[in-house]
Amino acid sequence: MNAREQASVPHALQAVRAQFPILAQTVRGKPLVYLDSAASAQKPLAVLDAMRAFELHDYANVHRGVHVLAQRATDAFEAARARVAAFLHAHSPKEIVFVRGATEAVNLVAQSFLRPRLRAGDEVLVTAMEHHANIVPWQLVCEPVGATLRVLPMSDTGALDLDALPGMLGPRTRLLAVAHASNVLGTVNDVARITRLAHAHGVPVLVDGAQAVAHLPVDVQLLGCDFYAFSGHKLYGPTGIGALWGRAELLDAMPPYQGGGDMIRSVSFERSTYADAPARFEAGTPNITGAVGLAAAIDFVQGVGWDAIAAHEQALLELAQGELEAIAGLRIYGTTPGKIGVIAFNVEGMHAHDLGTIVDALGVAIRAGHHCAMPLMQRYGVAAMARASLGVYNTADEVHALARAVRKAQAMFAG
Ligand code: PLP
Repeated sequence: MNAREQASVPHALQAVRAQFPILAQTVRGKPLVYLDSAASAQKPLAVLDAMRAFELHDYANVHRGVHVLAQRATDAFEAARARVAAFLHAHSPKEIVFVRGATEAVNLVAQSFLRPRLRAGDEVLVTAMEHHANIVPWQLVCEPVGATLRVLPMSDTGALDLDALPGMLGPRTRLLAVAHASNVLGTVNDVARITRLAHAHGVPVLVDGAQAVAHLPVDVQLLGCDFYAFSGHKLYGPTGIGALWGRAELLDAMPPYQGGGDMIRSVSFERSTYADAPARFEAGTPNITGAVGLAAAIDFVQGVGWDAIAAHEQALLELAQGELEAIAGLRIYGTTPGKIGVIAFNVEGMHAHDLGTIVDALGVAIRAGHHCAMPLMQRYGVAAMARASLGVYNTADEVHALARAVRKAQAMFAG
């Protein structure tokens, strides 16, 4: 069975699509084809229902009240933390800090872990394919002290040059930050190997898992890293919630990131003392309903199953790459084996924004722009790329619709 046939076969995942009513609509008079899950995935009914049920029956603030709803809400919030811990194979829920998303997780580590350790002349190692969320937070702490970013290079196909890595790790390297999967190239980086090399030089590793968590199982013990960051909304969960996993001994030694309620042990005007991790990093009322939704999203993906997700997405990816590659003048960026379902491309003679706008008129939602990875755009010498990204709910018909729409756009531009 070739990829096209496989992706067209009635599949257990067709029942999954019914979980996403938002997809069953027409836009601009055409059936909606949603191929922008790398920006934000749609939410299944199970997630929406869990959040609604929580708000209808159990909602209150957490950690503060003795009344029944406060206890129920606290239980739900802490159960969600335990769910995230199990999802990442953390040793304990105490290693999970709830944050707004991957961006806040990286900023937390930059401000609380890195900043106190950083001196003039120190280095932070990032890679050529990082999202701005895994570049700028490091610059914010490097610049004031005179530390610098160094950049691990990559090949044209989108593979990091791991042979160059040992030579870039030195006595001044304070941290290595790397994406588990690239939001542009789809590359899945060999984080376990990267971590082994970094640890051999005593360098801690933060992994940006924003794009990985919806596509592959994550085991932070196997990866061996020190911090792992992700966002709920890329995992079929809500926005405004995500998690930072950190090794207990590192989190325990880190100072608070923000001050406020819920992160203290005692407060006086002279001096305050702080709660243990993770509460120490969760100042203020958290996104309680978001955490409940995130736990439901984890249940959703695990219910579908990683094998089913991978088989479906890989078949669709192969189909999409085949159909797009057949279009004259179309270049795909990122062709490493085992990549996730993210396809960035450009069509000769067309700006990615024009392409995105024309295919939108045909009902096809893709992303066009720099994808918050300007240095990567510069690496390829382009200002922008178009990007189609796959989710568990996409179909072979939608891949055909994408290819048809791109061809039509190309014809309109030529004509
Ligand atoms: N890292 C990567 C690789 C991403 O793709 C994104 C979002 O697109 C982020 C980090 C930031 O995620 P968020 O905006 O949810 O914090």
